This record gives sequence, C-alpha cells and structure tokens, in this order.
Amino acid sequence: MKPSTKGECLNMDPRSLCKMYFVRFHLYCLLLMLFILAFPLVSDAGMDPSAETPDSGMNDTIDPALLLSRYVQIPSVTGQEKEAGEFLAEFCREQGLHVQIFTDAEDSYNFAASLYPLEQGKPNIVFMTHLDVVPPGEPEGWTYPAFSGQIADGMVWGRGAIDNKAMGVMQVLALRQFVERAAAEDLPYNVSLLAVSGEETGGDTGARIIADEYLDELNPVVVYGEGGAGLTGIIGADPDRPVFGLGVAQKRRLWMAIESTVVASGHASVPLQNYPTREVVKATSALLDARPKIHVEPVVEQALGQIADYEGLFRRRLMKNINFTAPLFGRFLRADPLIISMFTNTLSLTSLTSSDGAYNQIPTRARAVFDCRLLPGTDEEEFLNHVRKIIEPYKVEVEVIRSSSPTPTSPQGPYYRAMEESIHAVYEDASVVPFLFVAINDNRFFRRKGIPAYGLLPALMTDELMESIHYFDERMPVDELEKGIDVYVALINQLLAE
Ligand SMILES: [Zn+2]
Repeated sequence: MKPSTKGECLNMDPRSLCKMYFVRFHLYCLLLMLFILAFPLVSDAGMDPSAETPDSGMNDTIDPALLLSRYVQIPSVTGQEKEAGEFLAEFCREQGLHVQIFTDAEDSYNFAASLYPLEQGKPNIVFMTHLDVVPPGEPEGWTYPAFSGQIADGMVWGRGAIDNKAMGVMQVLALRQFVERAAAEDLPYNVSLLAVSGEETGGDTGARIIADEYLDELNPVVVYGEGGAGLTGIIGADPDRPVFGLGVAQKRRLWMAIESTVVASGHASVPLQNYPTREVVKATSALLDARPKIHVEPVVEQALGQIADYEGLFRRRLMKNINFTAPLFGRFLRADPLIISMFTNTLSLTSLTSSDGAYNQIPTRARAVFDCRLLPGTDEEEFLNHVRKIIEPYKVEVEVIRSSSPTPTSPQGPYYRAMEESIHAVYEDASVVPFLFVAINDNRFFRRKGIPAYGLLPALMTDELMESIHYFDERMPVDELEKGIDVYVALINQLLAE
C-alpha cells in the first residue's frame, strides 16, 4: 500500500519516520528527539497550478507557491531528473544567476547556479538540493494526483513538495535577491545553488560525482543541505516552542551478510545437528535478539542539554546527565525505534535466502543480509567483532558487502552559528540544537572532503506533514515555504557580513 520508501534521505517507513520526528515523549525521552528531517508547509488556497509560468524578471513578483507547484508537476523520480533539472536551471538563468552544468544525462543531471561564474574561484557558500523524488505509489492514495502540484488549503501538494523541491525553491528565491548586489559590489563570497540527482538512491549519480570530480571548480567553504527541520511538541514543559534540529552528523551504513555452507547430508528426512539454513536462522535470531549497548553521542548529549534548559527540574536533571541516565532508562529508550536508533548501532535483517532445491533436500547454502547503521563514534571493526562474538556458536561466516567511510561531524563554528541566528531571525523563540541524522544523505560526501555541511529544512513542520514525506499526500505549507526563503536570505546576509 505504501509507496516505495527506498530513498535514503528518509529511508524508513513513513510511520516510524513520523514518529521519529514527532514523538511526543513523555518521560525523558522527549528530548532526544531533536531529530527531524526537513520539510516545510504551505498555505494558500485556490491558485491554479496550471496557470502561467511565474514571473521570471528581476522583480519580486515571483510567487513561491506557484514556482513550487510547477516544479512538482515535473515528475523526477530517481533516474529521470533531467527535465526537472532543466526547468530549474532555466529559471535560475532567467534570474540572472550563472548556471554551470556539471553532468547532463537523463539520470545524472547536476548543476550549479551562482551569483558569480565559478571560474572566478571565489570561496563559495553552497546551498544543496536534490532534484529527484521517490515514486508516488498507488494513485488512489492521493487526494490530488501526485504530480498535479495542486495548491489548496494553503499547501502545495504532490510528490517532492517537501522532499526536496521546497528546499530548492526556498534557496533559489533567496539567492535571486542578491543578484543585483553581486553585480554592483565585489562580494567576498560566491553563493551557489547546487542541484543534484540521485539522492534518494544514495547519491552516486549526483553529490558523489560533484564531491569527487568538481570540488575544485565549485570551491565550497560550506554546504547547507537537508537534514533536520523545525518541530513543536519536543519540549515537555514548553510544547509550543519550536525546536530546529540542525544536522551536523549522521550514522554510517554497513551492509553485512552471514552465510553458511556447512556440509550436510542432502536428505531432509534425517535432520542433522548443523545444516546451512538452520545455522543461518539461529545466528540471525541471536543477532536480532541481542540488545545493543546504549551510547550517548556528544551531539545527542549536547542537544538534550540545550533542550533541558526549558524543562522542569526533574527532566532537566535527567537530560543534563544523559550519559548517566540513558542506560538507566534503557527500557523507555528501547520502546521507541526512532529514539533508540539515536543511542545505538542498529541492525535490520533485509534478506534471507538459500540455494534452490526440492522441498525434501537440504540446501547447500544459506545467507542473511543485514543493513547496519553505526553511530559516528563506533569503530567498524569493533562492531564486527561484537557481531562475530554473538554468532560464534554457529557455523556461519561474516562478510562485509559494503561499508561506507566514516563521516566527520561538522563543527559548530561560524557557519553553524550563522544558520542558528538566521533561524532565530525568523522564528524568534525557537531553540536550535545540533542533530544526529540516523539515515544518510548527500551531506556526507562533502563532510568527508573536510567541508562543513549542515542539514536543515528551515521550516516548521507538523506530525502530519512529516508523515507525508515519502508517503501519500506529501504537501508543503505556503507560509512555511515563504519563511524558509526569509531564513536563507538572513543566512546569506549574515555570511556576507562576516
Ligand atoms: Zn530528500
């Protein structure tokens, strides 16, 4: 029933995803959740999405909702990004931005649109957005067709309305406001929109290519991409206060298999002590039953500490001393999959297979595959040793299918603070906390190259809206879309003033 949730930026079941973001904690858990991905809301009814193209002059009459609507109307499921990319690139050109196409293929369309030509080599402030979306799923699930871009009830509706086309619209509409100034003055920085393909399937056709092959040309000093978002209901003692999770770190992915080829007689009529399917099932069961140890990452500790300032005495103490209290409250943490994923290395069984044969024949080979997510502070070899210890009693071998490089946590320096202050400029009473992203996204490619990258959709979201991401009725409130533009404008002003 659900649309595919293969995408990596939010690659989890929409329900747990939404829980993840909105968990109304009771107890102390509340805090942890600073997590949030990214998305905004919309609100303005009655515009005709099929109306004419938004104004493209240098005036300020561009309607953000209309632009988002038209962008959503171009289906850009991963692998078919080009048309949406050309639409956005052309819009950028019309705004007076300098467009540079990096790769121009149907399934790998990547470009930058900048205040100054990249050849000038200015240090570059990069706003990253992805062009691709996940498939819409069954049409009957949608109130308005998935690629209608319908504007109704103050929202823009459709696949990609939040993830990630809203962000692209915010970024480009902020950027265009600096075109005249860039022409009149010699600004210390370039500012670029970087639009990439393939984020939802891991970034190999997009951000990875840019980071590997075009980094010198792009010359980024910082990247602002997706990650957290703003949510309310996080602070128990002050539930109306928005909390924005600004992504600075993410877990890393490890795909691992256990396999058994233990020699066993072939006839199923005489069950043996050890045979491949039995060994793999027992080892798998041991792995799934093992209780992962709770680790408090510094980012999580800091975020909870910040939120604690708004809490009552009891929770404040609990949260301020999370290193000590988390293990004591393990039962509560474990009750919520999203919360516990921020405190532990996780492992999900994603495939279980055996060699083919007749039903009265013992298979000669059996295999289980796990998707593991490691906290930033976890050493991969240590994790694998732990796995080996758990499955030691069984006749299975561990194989690493694919492991990703460690991704450094981005510092909370001037670029972090500039975004923090820009949020405060638009959402005065918001709390901005560092955020550990439990999936992976494109920011990692830049962090690994030593470039700080921060993940945030600068918009205040609700449970319902979060739930719509990668699901049916994805929709973005127009008023939050507009506030997001204001945040990016404030951010550019901040950075240019430094
Ligand atoms: Zn995304």
